[in-house]
Amino acid sequence: MKIYNTMTRKKENFKPIEEGKVKLYACGPTVYNYFHIGNARAFLFFDVVRRYFEFLGYEMTYVQNITDIEDKLINQAKAEQTTVKKVAQKYIDAFLEDTASLGIKKVNHHPKATEYIGEMIDLIKKLVENNFAYEVDGDVYFSVVNFKNYGKLSGRNIDDLKVGARVKANVQKRHPADFTLWKKAKPEEPSWGSPWGKGRPGWHTECVVMSRSILGETFDIHGGGNDLIFPHHENEIAQAEASSGKPLANYWMHNGYLNIEGEKMSKSLNNFFTARDILKKYDAEAIRFFFLSKHYRSPIDFNEDIIIESSKAVEGFYSILKTVNFLKIENNAPNYSAEMLQLKEKFINAMNDDFNTAKAISVLFEIVKLFKKSNDENFAHLLVELGKSVGFFQNIADHLAEDLGEITENLIELLIEYRNTFKKEKNWEMADKIRNDLQKLNIQLKDTSSGTDWSISK
Ligand SMILES: [Zn+2]
Repeated sequence: MKIYNTMTRKKENFKPIEEGKVKLYACGPTVYNYFHIGNARAFLFFDVVRRYFEFLGYEMTYVQNITDIEDKLINQAKAEQTTVKKVAQKYIDAFLEDTASLGIKKVNHHPKATEYIGEMIDLIKKLVENNFAYEVDGDVYFSVVNFKNYGKLSGRNIDDLKVGARVKANVQKRHPADFTLWKKAKPEEPSWGSPWGKGRPGWHTECVVMSRSILGETFDIHGGGNDLIFPHHENEIAQAEASSGKPLANYWMHNGYLNIEGEKMSKSLNNFFTARDILKKYDAEAIRFFFLSKHYRSPIDFNEDIIIESSKAVEGFYSILKTVNFLKIENNAPNYSAEMLQLKEKFINAMNDDFNTAKAISVLFEIVKLFKKSNDENFAHLLVELGKSVGFFQNIADHLAEDLGEITENLIELLIEYRNTFKKEKNWEMADKIRNDLQKLNIQLKDTSSGTDWSISK
């Protein structure tokens, strides 16, 4: 298994800390709004990482935090004229609902920042004691100058940051890149008591504390979207290494950006979509297919045509399962030919090469093509086995049941056609028989000037 490590900027052989186990932390949502389709890419991708490791037989511990205290929540509470707590609960519920709708498997731990305030204060205290942090009037900052490895993940150096910093002029800070560990609360803001007075932790402190509390001082993989490399992950690393002297994670994985029809998604361009919006229009499997059809590190362009193509591709998979009546043969042990075993190997090799899902999906297409030539049901087994390893085919029964509805419709249309033929032949007896027999099945026919309509009465 090879993984591209953002820290070293190369693909490395994956070696877990503990044999057969993978400890994964991926940054979760800040729950002040519905998450957008760019966030969905990250959530879906790390779901694929988790599922694929499980497919390979690893025991996973997957932690995804929930940031339930942050400036954005405070602003949203003002906007919605409610409390921060209520905003958090509303969007936690929405997050869990929407990730489930996307077919994302529930992670092992969803720590909430507000549950770890004590541990965060302990970390900040330690950083202050060791001269990596300083307090100014109730705020505490991390001193990037005092941490000699600052910038190693993003490849930035402190001097450049001084020049280019888009950090608001803040006379309190010793260096523009110094970041907040503890923020003094304004009156009426939610706050916790600390050695520096009432306040709340900074976002970067939240993640480092939650990940280490559950996974230990060093864990295997830390992931997120590549917009988090700087400053968020850089700042997590600084706090972790300054306090423990150990790396926070051995592999840093980041997925690429999502654009909307070539443009950056933004509310001002009016091309901002939440996952909730997209799920109203498209099937979760089509969305998954769309994301997996590109390598996770490449940027991806979201447009409706590609999603429609993705829906068709997924339908193509299901048409095979339909053809072989998969639910009937599901429990039969497959008997893979040498050709099928080769395809399986090709799929695994692609996935083992830094999760090359685009290549892996091309193997699924090869399977579809070969099935069409042979009608060999073992191809269907192979398609399902490999597809499941990246999260497809979670509800085969439901999906095929829906299509039974379509078959029923087609059969009714067919009977109407026969009845029309009988009518043309003046075979009234047969024409009436069809209508009466359908009526016994609660299917009503109604002849109109433009043809025959039908309806089902309950
Ligand atoms: Zn984070």
